[in-house]
Order: sequence, then structure tokens, then C-alpha cells
Amino acid sequence: MATPEKSTEDEEVYVPLAPPECSHASEPLSPTENGNIVTVVVGTEFMGQRTFLVHDWLLIHYSAYFRNVLEARSGTGENVVELSGDSPKIFAAFYHFLYARTLFSRLDFENIPFEDSEICHIYVFGQDHGIPQLCNAAVDLLFVKNVQTWTSSTDQLHYIYEETQEHSPLRKYMVDWVIRFYPLHPLRENESSFPKDFLIDVIEAITAPDNKICSTTNITSREKVDSMKLDICSKYHDHSPPRDYAPPRDYGSFL
Ligand SMILES: [Zn+2]
Repeated sequence: MATPEKSTEDEEVYVPLAPPECSHASEPLSPTENGNIVTVVVGTEFMGQRTFLVHDWLLIHYSAYFRNVLEARSGTGENVVELSGDSPKIFAAFYHFLYARTLFSRLDFENIPFEDSEICHIYVFGQDHGIPQLCNAAVDLLFVKNVQTWTSSTDQLHYIYEETQEHSPLRKYMVDWVIRFYPLHPLRENESSFPKDFLIDVIEAITAPDNKICSTTNITSREKVDSMKLDICSKYHDHSPPRDYAPPRDYGSFL
């Protein structure tokens, strides 16, 4: 995991213990909703498997994928969904999000219970299952973790660029974090760590007419963190409603 260069100002970096606010997050659903329980079997016996019992109205509200699956099965009595290609730990984060609207129970400086790779997997799970609010929560958590641990998650770039599409908010977040906080001179030394498309995105971001970060030399790291935190919702969140959200992959075999 790459670490940005330290400066005397970095000792004063603001540590946001709370994730950024989302001004577009939907209201929590009433727990008195009527509905059925869906059994979601995640993983495989060989790799590890866990069964979750989930209210269908929660899945339908947050996820375009589950909405499609459950509406296609309406009236059939079938209530088991198998996600053999997914990780129980990643689904557990989604499960926690469904009921508590956070990815885990306590945002603790000492113990965010996810590796950077797991946070990126949560994002991709949300992307692939049409759950934009889960993607937003993952970006929020990655930002909090990057600030608190003062790392750049650049070792996740190949995964991110393989699993997300152009203009993905997660790609945009990584580019903007790197041009703010990552020392750019090791780019050549660590060339193999950076996907070509990422380097192109970095060049485009640096040369964009509205880019003021790289050219501003008298801004402290704390000011950069504060300004980025203010931009998280508007720049790196997807506020599309799940019904209008098209998962980028073909999950037809589950229908
Ligand atoms: Zn937002």
C-alpha cells in the first residue's frame, strides 16, 4: 500500500471520524413494512458459504438486481437467491447496510474492519447489483480510511480499472486522491502498478482547465482533505434511483 510523502503540514491533517454527508440519501424505510423473507446463499461450500435471511422490500428498495430477480419470481413461491460468485464478508457489509445504513457497527480509527481491497469489492458488488447507495458508502469509507491511515490504496488500481467502467466514481475518486496526495515522481519507478487508463485519467485530471489542486502550492494537506470531503457527495456519489440503474453486467442466468 503506497503512502503519500509526509510534510510538516501532514501532522495536522484533519481526521474525519464520520463519513461525509450525502445530501441525496433516501429516507430510512419503516421497519413496519409488510413483505417476505428471502434466503440469500452467498459463496460456495469450498470457498466459504453463509446464508442470510433478508426482507424482500429492503432488497427491492436498494438493489436493481434483486428487484429484477424478485419481480421475475413473483407468485412462484421461490425465495432462495444464490450468489455463488460473491464473498460472504462482502455481502455481510451489504446486509449491515440494509438494516443499519452503515457498513459496520462502529467507525473506529483503530479498527475499520475492512481492508482497502474489501472496500473496493464492496463498491464493485454494489455496482454489479445496482445498489448505488452501497457504492457511495464504499467511497465514503475508502476516503475515511485513506485519511485516517494516510495511504493511497494504489495497490487496488488494477482491480478497480478491471472491474469498473470509464467515468466510474471510484476511478474518479482514486485519480483525484492521487493528484492531491500521492508523490507523482514514483510513477515511473512503479510503472507496472498503474493501469494505462489510470495514467491517462491522471493526465486528463491534471490538465483539466478547472484543476486548481496541483498548481496550488500554498495549500496545506489539511485544506486539501477538507475540500475533498466537501466534494465527496457531489463528485464521487451516484444518486441514481435503483429502478433506473442498469447493472453493467449480465446477470440473466440468475433470473
Ligand atoms: Zn451523495
